Amino acid sequence: MTKFNPPTNKPLDRAYFKYKDNPKDESVPKYMPCCGEEVDNDYLDVNDPEDWELIENYIEDHLFDYSSTESITPRSCEECGRLIEYISELNEKAWRIG
Ligand SMILES: [Zn+2]
Repeated sequence: MTKFNPPTNKPLDRAYFKYKDNPKDESVPKYMPCCGEEVDNDYLDVNDPEDWELIENYIEDHLFDYSSTESITPRSCEECGRLIEYISELNEKAWRIG
């Protein structure tokens, strides 16, 4: 029986609950050392031409669908190149009423 060792004084996030019931993954690092992003195979790499195309397509589609969005910045980790988030710049005029 292993000693009960709760992760006290640590933020509990989605990754925590995702891996909580998967003790097998315990040896695998859960977060990237560079950006602290969750280690997952399912991510986009801005340095990968195919992934970059997906990112571009996503942004292009979003800009087409949402006229209030002026631009979208794909923020990525400078170390590993993984896409962290999209930052939308809203068009002020679109929100102006009258
Ligand atoms: Zn990184």
